[in-house]
Amino acid sequence: MKVHVEEFHVSTKAREEVVVVTDKVESIVARSGVRNGIALIYVPHATAIITANENEPGLKEDILNKLRSLFPRGAGYRHDEIDDNANAHLANLFVGFHLVMPVVDGRLRRGTWQEVMLVEMDGPRSRRSVIVVVLGE
Ligand code: ZN
Repeated sequence: MKVHVEEFHVSTKAREEVVVVTDKVESIVARSGVRNGIALIYVPHATAIITANENEPGLKEDILNKLRSLFPRGAGYRHDEIDDNANAHLANLFVGFHLVMPVVDGRLRRGTWQEVMLVEMDGPRSRRSVIVVVLGE
């Protein structure tokens, strides 16, 4: 079994933003040499999300608007007494900070409308990390 680990970084430009990182993840899968297995895509952050969905401008706004309504800023959270980002922590907790996708024939086996997305919830940040672990044969 092979294990291939790589990390890359993205910068974000807004408080909340969807950043598509599919190409970066796919190039790591290609470099891994793994033909069949899984890819773990993980963000070592408590206020950013990793997920997969359609890269369409209207939908990306819909995603951010839904997250804003589910996790509104400044809604009386205790954490905001020391750090003004409790809503971002809650979004990370409920939506997720990792993704597992199959690798088939040397490629991410993703749906046509599944692009890998980092969702920033507490930006802008100069350096958000994404760790990819490719496991398989
Ligand atoms: Zn915080």
